[in-house]
Amino acid sequence: MTENAALVLFSGGQDSTVCLAWALARYERVETVGFDYGQRHHVELQARTKILDRLRQDFPDWAGRLGPDRVLKLPALGEISETALTRDKEIEVGKTGLPSTFVPGRNLLFFTYAAALAWRRGISTLVGGMCETDYSGYPDCRNETLQTLARAISLGVDRHISIETPLMYVDKAGTWAMTQELGGAALVDLVTEETHTCYVGIRTRRHPWGYGCGHCPACALRAKGWHAWHDNQKPLAT
Ligand code: ZN
Repeated sequence: MTENAALVLFSGGQDSTVCLAWALARYERVETVGFDYGQRHHVELQARTKILDRLRQDFPDWAGRLGPDRVLKLPALGEISETALTRDKEIEVGKTGLPSTFVPGRNLLFFTYAAALAWRRGISTLVGGMCETDYSGYPDCRNETLQTLARAISLGVDRHISIETPLMYVDKAGTWAMTQELGGAALVDLVTEETHTCYVGIRTRRHPWGYGCGHCPACALRAKGWHAWHDNQKPLAT
């Protein structure tokens, strides 16, 4: 078993990119895994490649640590979810308070597949960008859910597997601040330019906080966090 290695659940979104940087700053070897489950927009999956390329290019200290990337196809997940991510349906917030983009139990499946891969690769730490702060409505993002899952997985594979979620109690402004701390202006630029969060898949409209429709809940959250962080920045000394 290789110690000090991590497998990051990397979607190409803002949160998982910051988690990848977090892992690169801490672990000697970092591998990445993404999931293709028939998302209506493949924009996020395309963003992954660009982000990995730029991390290798712009962060020489991290480049040597960054190992193989894999995308696992999980089409069954699309088949069992009637959501805006996988079907041509408007994004709305339903009676349960969950947006229609919610795929029930998605993170349980992602982590279980990731654990199987990690086991094969001799990795015992899984890293994900789940967060209780902004989307308290997602029950599979809760710390208790994920730590209980880590225990079930560890029992199931008879090896200790831990789940690290560095953004669990961090809000979106805090995520931008963490980006700055981890990789300075270069990482803020990479996250702004290359990561994709918009539910509608818009890459043609550039805002100060990146690309997106500007109206969907994911864009609204990203914009709000950016302003809360950016507008409180002290001007750089000249
Ligand atoms: Zn949007």
